[in-house]
Formats: sequence, structure tokens, C-alpha cells
Amino acid sequence: MIQLYIPLNFLGVLYREIKQSLTDLDKMFGLLGREREVAEAPGAPALRVQGGRVEFDAVDFAYDPARPVLHGVSFTIEPGQRVAVVGPSGSGKSTLARLLFRFYDVKAGAVRIDGQDIRHVTQHSLRQALGIVPQDAVLFNDTLGYNIGYAKEGATPAEIEAAAQAAQLDGFIRSTPQGYGTRVGERGLKLSGGEKQRVAIARTLLKNPPILIFDEATSALDSHNERAIQAQLDAVGQNKTVLVIAHRLSTVVDADQILVLEAGRIVERGRHAELLARGGAYARMWNLQANSQAPDA
Ligand code: ATP
Repeated sequence: MIQLYIPLNFLGVLYREIKQSLTDLDKMFGLLGREREVAEAPGAPALRVQGGRVEFDAVDFAYDPARPVLHGVSFTIEPGQRVAVVGPSGSGKSTLARLLFRFYDVKAGAVRIDGQDIRHVTQHSLRQALGIVPQDAVLFNDTLGYNIGYAKEGATPAEIEAAAQAAQLDGFIRSTPQGYGTRVGERGLKLSGGEKQRVAIARTLLKNPPILIFDEATSALDSHNERAIQAQLDAVGQNKTVLVIAHRLSTVVDADQILVLEAGRIVERGRHAELLARGGAYARMWNLQANSQAPDA
């Protein structure tokens, strides 16, 4: 019995850890059920985060060798800065986030955090340093409290409530039949898109990593909800290194740097006003989107 119990218990812990760090990522990256593609270097040290400087250095990448996706992509996000990536569908925006999480290894060049090549540190320490607010948060068939608290091992109820409050979710939770003990998911309460995003924000607040990725929702929230969520994301990103995968240009106006990606190449970079004045790819995208904006947006 003992022999059976220990491995099972160990597997349980392992499963929980994997589930914790990967659920939202796997959903975002469409990796569920797929084998991981990268190997951990034996004896790799943990990542030492100082300020959280992110650097892509001449990165080439392809999922399939016959079809290159990124070509010589170089950019730096200084600690505390916000960099937004814009570009047409399929240009490689989400791929940058996948490479930062090291779901795949680059084909050439390097991705570094505070000067350390992410291939040379443990994957656990890398993922501890990174947080993502995905487009569509995954909810477990469990309680609201669990759904927030799983982001941090050993989180206390007080910490979970504080995170929910900061994500402006606490009032909603208290209005449900069993509060933090209310079950959600397939067999429980269904949450709206905005509520799910707030769960994702609460998780991120609880985990409190130095580097954040916001994968902006393409799906429509009503404009009131969208502004509220945007304001919360701005607050969560204060003093952190932030990479925004932007689908709407209206949210990149304040970014410290905007990268315009086209077919896997950075074709323009700069701040909003500079890029508009240049009258190039970004200005064209901006004008296109401004013209197609719904009247109430
Ligand atoms: P969107 O704005 O539509 O989300 P994106 O700019 O984020 O697009 P990516 O998801 O990074 O684009 O995809 C870049 C290219 O890589 C696309 O041509 C896509 O078809 C391809 N691609 C993405 N994921 C995979 C994969 N797992 N295997 C093979 N090709 C992939």
C-alpha cells in the first residue's frame, strides 16, 4: 500500500504543479494533449530575475522547416516598460509569446531574460517569472475560490479575496449562492466573458510575476466592460515588464514601444505618434481601423 501511495501522491503534486502553470497557456497556445517540444538542460540553474528585461535577439523561428514564421526578430523590453505587438492575423504575434514561454526553441538567435538565455535555465523558474492574461481564461469545474487560488501554491483565503477585490470580482462572487465556495464550469455557474477575464486578472495578481503578457481579447466585450478591464490591466501592469499582443490599436496608444509585425518581420517600431507621422504600415492600419470602428465603440 505504502509503495503505491507514495508514487500516486507524488504524481498528484506533480499534476497539480503542471496544471497550475500550464492550463491557461495550453489553452492559449493550443497545446493541449501535445508533447512538449523542448528539453531541460541537465543541471540547469534557476532563472535569476533582476528587473525583468526581455530581449529577443535576431530570432528566427519555424514550426515547420518548410515555412519560416519569424525572421531576424530583435527587440528589447526594459524593466517596467510596455511593448505592444501589432500586425495582421498570422504575422507571428502569438508566436513571440510562445517563444518567451519556451514552448518551442528558436531556430536561430536567442531569447534572454535579464541576460540569461531561457534555454539555459529551468523551465519551472522561467514560468514562475511569467504571467499571462489570456483571451479566454480556462475555468476548472471547481469553486470560484479554487479557480483564483490555484495560481499560487498555498494561497490563503485572505490573499484570494484580496486578489478578487483588486480585480473587481469580489462583489460578484459575494452575490453568488455560496460565495467563494460556489462551483463554476460545466456543472456549475457559467461566467460571462468579462467575469472570466477578471478571474484571469485575479490569478495574475495572486501570482504576481515580474513579466506579463496580455493577449488581448478579440472577442467583443461591451465597451463599458472593455474599458473597465483595460483599466485593470493597466493597473496590474504597473512597474512590470509587459508584452501586449494587440488586436485593437486603440489599446496600444500608450505603449512605450509598438512593434509592427508583417509576415514575421518587424517592419516598423516606435511610439504611436511617431508611427502615425511616418505614414507607413502602422498609419495605414490605424486609418483602416478608425474607419471601420463601430459607432458605439
Ligand atoms: P492572430 O492575430 O490571428 O492571432 P498571430 O499574428 O498571433 O495571428 P501566430 O499565431 O503567431 O500569428 O502564427 C504565425 C504563423 O504560424 C501563422 O502562419 C500560423 O498559421 C502558423 N502557426 C501558428 N501555430 C502553429 C503551429 N502550432 N504549427 C504550425 N504552424 C503554426
